[in-house]
Order: sequence, then C-alpha cells, then structure tokens
Amino acid sequence: RNRTARPTVLIIGLGRFGSAVAETLVNQDVEVLCVDEDAERVQHFAGQFTHTVQADATDGDAMRQLGVGQFDRAVVAIGNDIEASVLAVITLVEAGVEQIWAKAITRKHGKILDRIGATHVIYPELMMGQRVGHMVTGLMNDYI
Ligand code: ATP
Repeated sequence: RNRTARPTVLIIGLGRFGSAVAETLVNQDVEVLCVDEDAERVQHFAGQFTHTVQADATDGDAMRQLGVGQFDRAVVAIGNDIEASVLAVITLVEAGVEQIWAKAITRKHGKILDRIGATHVIYPELMMGQRVGHMVTGLMNDYI
C-alpha cells in the first residue's frame, strides 16, 4: 500500500465532478489514477492527469488488474448510473480501499452507498446549495 505523505488517489468517473476533484488533487501535487469507461473523456484528460485509463469500473476483474487494492483513497464520481456507482463502490470495498468518497445524486442513492461501505458520501448539489444559501446573505462567512 502507498503510505507516503502524498498518497496516490484513485478517481472513478471524469465528469464535471470527478475531473474537478482530479484537477484539485493534481494542483496539490497529488498523483491520480483516473478511470472512465468513455474513450473520449479519457483522451481529453490524458495529458492533464498523471494516469488516465479507460475501463469499466463495474468490471471487478478489470479493476483488480489496475491494482485498485493498492490505493488507500478513492473517489467514485459516477452519479447518474446508480447501478454502476454501487458496483464500483463494492469493488473498492472488496479490494480493501480504506477511504472511499462517493458521490450520490439522491438521498436513497446515498443511503445505499453508505450501507455498502462508502466511508464518505457526497451530495454535490446539496452541499453547494447550502454554501450558496450562506454566501448570498453574507452571513456565516466561516461556512464558506
Ligand atoms: P458530472 O455531473 O460529474 O458532470 P456526468 O453528468 O457526466 O457527471 P455521470 O453519469 O455522473 O455523468 O458520469 C460521470 C463519469 O463517469 C462519466 O465520464 C462517465 O463516462 C463515467 N462512468 C459512468 N459509468 C462508468 C463505469 N461503469 N465505469 C467507468 N466510468 C464510468
């Protein structure tokens, strides 16, 4: 396992959310392995992120071949395809990934992710809506 001070992080899904997470990690000099099933997205980000590969995150064998079990931290940034999101998280849990940050699009989706072993469930719209609710009033600036 990679236990250096700057861990390598596995990112599954390079949509707006996953690519923003990956970019933010790269800007902190953190190495990332990005996985997306869409060849065009992979090609688009290949030059920008350290390692970018095309693979189906629901394919347990393919994921094991990528060595996902070597990562301490992973971000599952698949939203719309709940089945794929769930299977990707299960694969990472079974591989022994300790920290799994998973994006949920609904409360029910989030509840499933939590129950199958995602350690952090993220609701992007909810979180950003709450932030904007504080930003527009200018109150509670600590919150931003
Ligand atoms: P965002 O809201 O972050 O922009 P999106 O609207 O593009 O996301 P999502 O369905 O959340 O769409 O997918 C995010 C990314 O995850 C896409 O780039 C998609 O190709 C990828 N993805 C979806 N399913 C899989 C899978 N099974 N394996 C790997 N990547 C996947």
